[in-house]
Amino acid sequence: MARFVLSLDQGTTSSRAILFDHDGTVAAQAQQEVAQIYPDSGWVEHDPADILASQLHVAAHALQQAGAAPSDIAALGITNQRETAIVWDRETGEPIYNAIVWQDRRTAAACDTLRQSGALDMVRGKTGLLIDPYFSATKIGWMLDHVQGARSRAEHGKLAFGTVDSWLVWHLTGGRRHVTDRTNASRTMLYDVVRDQWDDELLRVFGIPESLLPEVVWSSGEIGEATTPDLAGIPIAGIAGDQQSALFGQLCTNPGDAKNTYGTGCFLLQNIGAEFRLSQARMITTIACTADRTLCYALEGSVFVGGAVVQWLRDKMQFFASAPDIEQIASGADSAHLVFVPAFTGLGAPYWDPHAAGLIIGLQRSTEIGHIARAAIDSIAFQVADVVRAMESDTHQAFTMLKADGGAASNDMLMQFQADLLGLPVERSAIAETTALGAAYLAGLASGFWAGMDEIAGLRGPGQVFVPRMDRSDALARSARWQDAVRRSRSWFGGNP
Ligand code: ADP
Repeated sequence: MARFVLSLDQGTTSSRAILFDHDGTVAAQAQQEVAQIYPDSGWVEHDPADILASQLHVAAHALQQAGAAPSDIAALGITNQRETAIVWDRETGEPIYNAIVWQDRRTAAACDTLRQSGALDMVRGKTGLLIDPYFSATKIGWMLDHVQGARSRAEHGKLAFGTVDSWLVWHLTGGRRHVTDRTNASRTMLYDVVRDQWDDELLRVFGIPESLLPEVVWSSGEIGEATTPDLAGIPIAGIAGDQQSALFGQLCTNPGDAKNTYGTGCFLLQNIGAEFRLSQARMITTIACTADRTLCYALEGSVFVGGAVVQWLRDKMQFFASAPDIEQIASGADSAHLVFVPAFTGLGAPYWDPHAAGLIIGLQRSTEIGHIARAAIDSIAFQVADVVRAMESDTHQAFTMLKADGGAASNDMLMQFQADLLGLPVERSAIAETTALGAAYLAGLASGFWAGMDEIAGLRGPGQVFVPRMDRSDALARSARWQDAVRRSRSWFGGNP
C-alpha cells in the first residue's frame, strides 16, 4: 500500500517538495530557493535548468527524509508559479531563453499597442483576462522575436512552449508528455476558457504558432509516469496553477468560497461555479480546478508584490537577514503616516497599471527602518483589502471572513492588520502549505489514495482566527491615506494617468 502522495510545488521564490500522508499531514518536506535574475529594469527571469534541478533535488530529498521509495508514493501532483513562460527545443529539451517570469514587464509597450488596436474586448471575452504583460502570450512572442531564428524554428514545429508545469512534466517523463492543465492554460491568454480550447484568433493576434502548444488535460487524472531516477514509476496525476491549487487546497469547491494566498504576490480567488462570468471591477476570470473533470470558474484579483516587498527589504535594502525577522523589526513601529506602495512591477488588480512606480511617502527625520518595515507589511494588507472590496462590488456579496494562507500569512502582524483593515475575521489555514496540498489532493483523488472530497474534508482542522481590533474610523482614515499614495504612484513610467 502506498503511504504518501508527493506534491511538487514550484513557486516563484523556491521549489518545494512535500510528502503528505493519508491524514493529509506533512510527512516530509524539502525546499530550495530559486535564483531570481533581473537582467534589466522590470525584467524578471529564472533559469529553467535551475527550476528543474531544484525541483528534482527537493523531491529526492523529501523521499529520503521519509525513508520512502517511489513505490511508497501513490501519485505525484504538480503545482506551479503560473504564466511564467518557457520555450524549448523539442529534440534536445534545451530552453531557447530563460524562463520569463510572470512579474516581468518587458512587454508593457506591446500590450499597450494591442489594447489600442481594439483587441481588448475579444481577448477578454474569450480568456477572461485583461491584456497585460503578466500573462504568457506576449512573453512567448518576445522570445520568438528576440532569440535569433526562434520564430522560424517555431513555425517549423521544432520548439515547444510551456508554463512551468509543462516544463516539469516534459522532463519528468523524458520528453514523452507535452501537456498542461486547464488552470495553467487559462493563464496564457491563448486559451478560450468558454469553448475550452486553444483559440486560432488569439494565436493570430499574439503571433504564436499553434505547433508550440501543449495538449490540455484535466487537473486531476493520470497523465503519465515519472522516469527520472529518484522518482521512476510514480504516476503523475495532478496539475494545477499555484493559486487554483491553493483554492482547492482550502476546499473552496463551492460557489462563493474564497481564499487569499500571501506569497510573493497575493492572490484572492473566489469560486463562481460552472458559469463563465466577466468581472465589472477589473478582476479576471480564470479556470478553477475540479476533481471530477467538470469546468469551474473563479474570479481572481492578483497583487503582484506581496511578500516580495519583504524580500526586497531583505535583499536590496539589507534591513534584515531573513523574512520572518521583519516581525521583530516592525514591532512597536506604527507607521500611520508613512505609506509604502510597492508597485515594483506596476500595479495589478484592481488598478492594472504597468507604468506605476513603487514609492514611500511620508518620510521624516524621525523615520527609522522599523517604520519602513511596518509600512511594507501594511502595504500587503492594503492591496489585499483593495481587491476584497473590488470583488465584493462585483459579486454584490459582502465577505463575512477571509481565508488566508501562503508564506507571508505566517506573519501575525500582517494577519491582524488585515482583519483590522477589513473589519472582518481572517482565518489562517492550519496547514500553511495549502498550495502544495491542493496538488496533493488532485493527485491523491485521481489515484484513489483518497476516496473523495468528503474524506478529505474530514481530515481538516480549524485555522487560527484574527478578529478586528482597530477602531473603524482609524482603519478608514488609513485606507484613505493609502488610496492617496496609490494615486501618486500611478503612471510614473508613462502611459495615461
Ligand atoms: P511563493 O510560493 O510565491 O514562492 P511563499 O508562499 O513561499 O511564496 O511565501 C514566500 C514569501 O513570503 C516571500 O516573499 C517572503 O518574503 C514572504 N515571507 C515569509 N515569511 C514572512 C514573514 N514572517 N513576514 C512577511 N513576509 C514573509
